[in-house]
Formats: sequence, structure tokens, C-alpha cells
Amino acid sequence: MIKSPSKRVSAAKKRAPTSKATIPFYPTRWVTVFAMDPSVADKGKILRTQIEIPNEALDDGPRGYRAHVVDYDSTTDTFYRPLKIVRKWNREDQAPPDPFEHLTDRQLLTSPAFHACMVYAIVMKTLSRFEYAMGRRICWSFGGHQIQIAPHAFCDANAFYAKEAHGLFFGYFPALDGKKQIFTCLSHEVVAHETTHALLDGLRELYTEPSSPQQAGFHEGFSDIVALLSTFSAQSLVARLIDLGLPQGEKIDIKRSSVTPEKLRNSALLGLAAQMGAEISGVRGQALRRSVQLEPRNDYLSSPEYQEPHACGEVLVAAVINAHLDVWIRRMEALGRSNLNRQRAAEEGAEIAERMLTVCIRAIDYCPPTDLQLSDFARALLTIDMELNPMDDKYSMRPRLFEWFVKFGILEDQKAQEGREAGTWDPPESPELFLYDRTHFESMKSDKDELFRFLWENRKLLKLNEDADTRVCSVRPCVRTGRDGFILRETVVEYVQQVTLLARELGRRGIQAPEGMPGNTEVTLYGGNALIFDEYGHVKYNIGTSVLDPARESVQKKQSDRLAYLWRAGAFSGQSSAMSPFRQIHLRGAMDWYRAVRG
Ligand SMILES: [Zn+2]
Repeated sequence: MIKSPSKRVSAAKKRAPTSKATIPFYPTRWVTVFAMDPSVADKGKILRTQIEIPNEALDDGPRGYRAHVVDYDSTTDTFYRPLKIVRKWNREDQAPPDPFEHLTDRQLLTSPAFHACMVYAIVMKTLSRFEYAMGRRICWSFGGHQIQIAPHAFCDANAFYAKEAHGLFFGYFPALDGKKQIFTCLSHEVVAHETTHALLDGLRELYTEPSSPQQAGFHEGFSDIVALLSTFSAQSLVARLIDLGLPQGEKIDIKRSSVTPEKLRNSALLGLAAQMGAEISGVRGQALRRSVQLEPRNDYLSSPEYQEPHACGEVLVAAVINAHLDVWIRRMEALGRSNLNRQRAAEEGAEIAERMLTVCIRAIDYCPPTDLQLSDFARALLTIDMELNPMDDKYSMRPRLFEWFVKFGILEDQKAQEGREAGTWDPPESPELFLYDRTHFESMKSDKDELFRFLWENRKLLKLNEDADTRVCSVRPCVRTGRDGFILRETVVEYVQQVTLLARELGRRGIQAPEGMPGNTEVTLYGGNALIFDEYGHVKYNIGTSVLDPARESVQKKQSDRLAYLWRAGAFSGQSSAMSPFRQIHLRGAMDWYRAVRG
């Protein structure tokens, strides 16, 4: 059992009042989960960790204010009895107990109640990471407040998020040895990955619309990044896995020679879904994906084999995780020349992972709401981190991230403009020209119509297309805390523009209709921006591209490329499948993998 690091003992426990007159409230509770999955063990014992999640009075299931475990198996048409919440779980006069802490591996593996509790806990942990990073509440995209989670949904080596079913579905499948079942719900990373799909969908609904391999790849890559960095941010796990399997793996000090970038890229820490990968491939220790091992090359995104979403997403994962390793290794070099203190090295690795994860999540607010390219995400990430952590001197995260984005061809190696940092978004050209007098910023923080008035008044400056249908999708005030405790208040607005045309009308707008597309085919073009206001209500950034812009070739090319891709992919054939897009992608990913390793 890996104990929770003592310094992370919940502030709630310390604050717990002793007087009977007041009602104690513990804002968080600790829950035991598998640190990675049941295949990652040390001396025959599955590695576990305790995670801190929001505390609440749970109903059977568990069912909480944002997540509801419904244990229905569609393959056998069986409802499993929901986890019974005993009274002491919700008692208010003591810290909530962790009911699975003292059970054996065998008890955990065979207990549907533990499975239910583990998925609930990881979904809530991932949600709370997003809410902390964003500095506000995050909603699910389907409109309801409670996502349904089916931990044993069907018999198949797959797991997916389905918006139309308001839920997350985890499959199970027989192991190669035929003796046991593999449960995808027991893989920490698989659960975090699927939850991220759902959260990202709540933040940027149009990213699931067909657009480009990079946009679909982003959903996959971003979900992998959140999954990998989430497990990496458990310091106790890093301390165990940093040199697991090496003879000195027991000692207090780690040999410097065992923490080279090559060895870390191969370590259990950076392979995604080890058990699923090993069972599907039949190779022990074979992770489902190990993107960090991609050789740096700047032409992946233009090469044909990287047009498949998982492959494309791996390029992003490789850049971010290599930057994380780079920052960590430099910190370790600063700590000692010969041997390294295991605890200290792990603390740094986990801390850097946590910070890297926070900035990756925050970047979503600075991404355009439609037709996302990986370069947009990279620029968003560098910009929001510059806003929140202008100094960045302890870790030098941004220079490393920029370097790896360039190595993988996500960003171009361009010099920064005077007073700016390389790779960041440009602020508006003439900020002094914005008209603010006819709108009230206080109302703009919550009222979409007030905000639309601001857009309309400033339509020329914002380069809005006046023929398009313009819609304000969201207005979100947020308060975020930087690495040094610096607090940033902003309001993030998403607006989209939409134009429907016939294919034969595209040419006049400078857009090329796909070859062979009949002239009477209806096509819808999208554009849209993220508009960021500072705490005084002034525009800081307007990030995105117009739906149509006869003066800008880049806009016309982007629209032409998108249509060509959709036409090739059959998106206009009218045979849209009812299957969840994530299910299709995941099935394809798993099957390709299967074919590749089984021949
Ligand atoms: Zn996925």
C-alpha cells in the first residue's frame, strides 16, 4: 500500500473543529484506488494510492452531485446491486472513512462495489482538477448535472464516452490466459481518459463535430495527457516506479544513471493502460500507447499515417510529456550530481506533473471554439501560462514546452515580437478602438445578450462576418491562482459564426469546393472565437478565425481544407452513424492495434 504523502494530509483534517456546538464539515475525503491498473505491482502487490476527492453525502451507487454509478451490463442484461452507502460514510462528526483501505488485492479485484467506487472517485478527481485549473464550475455538455457511469457496461476491450447517453461506459474482456477478466474500469488512466473526453466536450462542444484529423486527434491526445499526468502527480507512485525493476529499486537514493530520459520514457510511469495493452498484444509490459517514445520529427502532422486521430494525438502527447521530462530532469540535475534522494526526486516529478496538467487544462479557455489545430492549443497554453506565471523562473516550463512543440512540428520556430514570448497569441491590434460605453461589463459577465451587443458594436474591429449567424455560446467569469499565489480574474466568452451555402456558391467566397461535389450540396461553414476580458472588462485577446474573410487567404484555405477532408471522409454521404464518435474512434484504435501486434 502506498501511503498518501504526509504533507498532503487534507487541510480539512487539520481544520476539523472539535467543539460539539459547531457542525464539522470535511470538504474532501480520501479514497483508495489502484495507482495505475492491476498489472502494475511491486513484489506481487498491486500498487495502490489514495486520492483526495470532494466530500458529499452519497447515495447508494455511489451517487453524488455530479456522478452516478449505474452498474448495468448490457451483454448479460444484468443489473448489479449498487454499492450500499453505510451511515458512517456520510457521518458529519468525523472524517469520512476510506472503506477499501485495508482490503486485500483479491478482495478489491472481485468486488463490484470497489470497482464502482474506483470509477466514481477518479471521475470526481478529474472533475475537481478541471474546476481548480479553470477557477470555476465545469458543466457536462449534455445539459444534466450527473454523469452516469457504467463500470461493467459490456464484454469488449473498449471504453467510451457517449454524450447522447449522458455517460461513460467501461467494458471488460477475458484475459489471454482465459482464467480471469480484465476490467477497463480498474485502469486509472482509462477512467481519467474517458472522463476527460466528457469534460472537454462540456468546455468545447464543437470539438466533436467533424472538422479535421487534428481536431479529432486533439480530443484523444489531450485525454491521454490528462490521464498520464494525473497518475504521475501521485508522488508516492513516482517514488516507487522511478526505477522499479532495477536492483537498487529499494534504496533511499536513486542512481543518477537510472534516471536518464531514455529510461524514463520506457518506465511504467509513461506507458498508458499497461494491462489493456499487454492483454490485447500478448506482450507483458506492453502499454496500450507509449507516445513519449516517438522520435522528434517536424513532419508528422503532414504525413498520411498521422491522419488517424489516435496517431495524430500522440504527436501532441509526445511533445507535452517530453517537455515534462525535460523540466524534471533539469530540476534533478540541480538537486545532486551523483545520487538523488528518492523522495525529493519523486516530489519534484509529481509537482511538475501537477503544474503541467493544470496549465494544459487552462489552455482550453484560450483555444478557438471551432476547427482546432494542435498549434492553437500550443499557443493557448504558452499564452495563458505567461498571463498567470509571468516569471516562470523556477521550472522554466514555457521555454521547454516551446522547444518540444517546435521539435514535433506543432509550432514554427519563430522569434517572439518585442515585449512578447515566442509562440504566444497576439493581443488585439488597436485595443484603444473598442467601444465599451454602451454595454455594462457587470451584466456582460452573465448575460449573453448584453455580450452580443458588445460584439455587434465592435463587429468591424472583431472582424465578424455580418452575413453569418453569430451566437454567444458561453460567458464564464473565472478566478485562477498562479504558481506563486498570484490571482488572475478573467471572463472567458465563446462565440461562433455559422454560414450555410451551396457548393456552387463557395468559389465566389474564395473557397474551393471539393472535387466531384455536386453544386447543389449544402455545406455549413463555422468560425468562432474565444474572447478574453480582463478584470476591468477590457478585451485582452480575441482568439480564433472568421467564418469567411475574402481578404484573408489563410481563412479561405482553412475552410477549403476542412471541406476536402470531410468530403473524403464521407461526411456528406448522409449515412451518419448513430454510434458515439468516441466509440468508433476507440474501436478503430483498439482493432488497429490488435491487427498490428497479432499480424
Ligand atoms: Zn479517447
